[in-house]
Amino acid sequence: MVKNVNVGKKKYKIHKGDTVQVLSGKDKGKQGEIVRMVTKKDSVIVSGLNLVKKAVKRRSQQDQGGIIEVEAPLHVSKVGIVCKKCSRPVRIGYKFDGDKKIRVCRKCGEAL
Ligand SMILES: [Zn+2]
Repeated sequence: MVKNVNVGKKKYKIHKGDTVQVLSGKDKGKQGEIVRMVTKKDSVIVSGLNLVKKAVKRRSQQDQGGIIEVEAPLHVSKVGIVCKKCSRPVRIGYKFDGDKKIRVCRKCGEAL
């Protein structure tokens, strides 16, 4: 059996911990930090954004159950990385710092 060695090694321009702005959908224009990458879906979980209501079952005496709000994944194409200097979503450029490739803002050149 041949195993796909590329599984889990997808490369994205954005990473966990990045500040991103939502480019489309109900939370368009809002910014937040990526808390989790959902590589299976090419999506990201952004802190406090794209909240959806979810029904939870009562599992114990203390557990209230009911409706909670959870962050739903946003597709990577729907978010843009925010440059701290420009404070808006920018296009990512790359440059080499020695032999290390770093991401930079295409507008102002600030490292992202
Ligand atoms: Zn910038």
